[in-house]
Amino acid sequence: MEQKKSLRFLSAQKSDRFLTCPKCNGKMKQVKVRIQDADSPVTSYQCAKCGYFDFEESSINKALDEIKAKETPLKIKQKIIKLSHDRLGMYINRDVARSLNLKGGEEVYVSVPDKKRLVVDIHT
Ligand SMILES: [Zn+2]
Repeated sequence: MEQKKSLRFLSAQKSDRFLTCPKCNGKMKQVKVRIQDADSPVTSYQCAKCGYFDFEESSINKALDEIKAKETPLKIKQKIIKLSHDRLGMYINRDVARSLNLKGGEEVYVSVPDKKRLVVDIHT
């Protein structure tokens, strides 16, 4: 709960370039930091005196959302298309193709691990 209180304190003062450290009342410097797997830089506040460190609430939340989005496997609802007679087909969505780096013409291995899954292995 302590953490939450200080975050609110920080976001209320975010227009200032320098903030007061909630621990020692020293001056805090605003520093943009990059977090692994997040696209947007995160605004952090660092106290030079005691080393107190905190993130600006809205920017850390944005970064956490970006990280979460990357961890979620791509899942798209698609229809199996009837090509001719007993042949069926499925389009490979642009996003799927991009995430697997498919250009067309690749050889793939199709396997059926159980009655509910179709696995396409790409060997490059
Ligand atoms: Zn401090």
